[in-house]
Order: sequence, then C-alpha cells, then structure tokens
Amino acid sequence: MNRNPKDGEEALSLLLDGNRKFMAGKLTQYDLAARRRELLAGQHPFATVLCCSDSRIDPVKIFDANLGEIFTVESAGNVVDDIAIGSIEYGTGHLHTPILVVLAHEKCGAVTTCCAGAVCTGHLPSIMKRIEPSVVKGDVEASTDASAKSTKKCIIDNSEEVRNLVLEGKLRVVVAKYCLESGEVKILE
Ligand SMILES: [Zn+2]
Repeated sequence: MNRNPKDGEEALSLLLDGNRKFMAGKLTQYDLAARRRELLAGQHPFATVLCCSDSRIDPVKIFDANLGEIFTVESAGNVVDDIAIGSIEYGTGHLHTPILVVLAHEKCGAVTTCCAGAVCTGHLPSIMKRIEPSVVKGDVEASTDASAKSTKKCIIDNSEEVRNLVLEGKLRVVVAKYCLESGEVKILE
C-alpha cells in the first residue's frame, strides 16, 4: 500500500522515522514480490531525493522506504544541471511528492577533490565548477554543507515549477546530511 503523507512535514516525519529504524538496524521486511505487482499500476512516491552517487548512500535503505516510495536523482557531489533539475521537476511537479530532500554526506569525494584543488580530467571539471563557489578553504565538511545549501538555491532559482510549488505550499525543500558512521540524516535547513 502506498504511504501518502498529506504535506511536506508529514513526509519528512516518515523519512526521519525510517532513518531511525535504519540507524537501529531494524529495517522493515517488505514483501517485495507483492509490492512489484502493486506498482504495475504506477508509481506514487512521497519523496524526491537528490543525493550523491556515492555507493555508501542509498536513500531507499537509509530511510527504510519501500520500492516506489522515493524518486531518486543522483550525481557526484549532489550537484545539479538542467537534466537533474528536469528530473527533480518530474518528481515534484509530475509525481507530486510533497518533499524534496537535497542530501549531502560526510567525507564526500567530489567535495574533497574540489577542496584540494586537484586537477580533474574529462567531464569532472563540470562537477567541480558547481562546488567551487561553496569551498571553505581547508574544511571539507563546511564546504559540503555550503554546497548543498547552494544546490537548493540553484534548484529554486532555476526552476519556476519548483519555485511555484514552494510558494503554493505544495512542496517543502529540505537540505540534509548523512553521517557515514551512525547512519543518521541530520537536517541542515
Ligand atoms: Zn559524495
């Protein structure tokens, strides 16, 4: 059955309740075969999550969610471009999730690389370019927090659709950070 929170606040509560179960190692045993059948009729996720591609972070697991509950958009360093913003608009505007979480994490490789001023090849400079303005010299974690907040602003500034949903009170945008050791998701703003 789909969980259907009435607003962003209730959706955030569901996510944080799930995160507490994840931290305690008490994940819900979902009947995935039944859920797959149920989802043939369509998806009705209740949260859109933008997170880093880092293999240590899996939004469905860390929020103890079921299949079909979280619409996930991923990139290294959880930065956005037009395609990522379009994907976020699909989750929030088309699938009507009442919450968008910009989820950063500790010890982010993309932010660490950017802080170190390392020379990047290929397409990686496109990612560094997004993080650079948020770099706090010598402080990866402060840079990570600043970059995630800047990503939220970038999404709202660049997406009229997201902006309108926020203004209409239909969407809550939250910036959060995942702690690798405890598994806790902390709300930054
Ligand atoms: Zn990362």
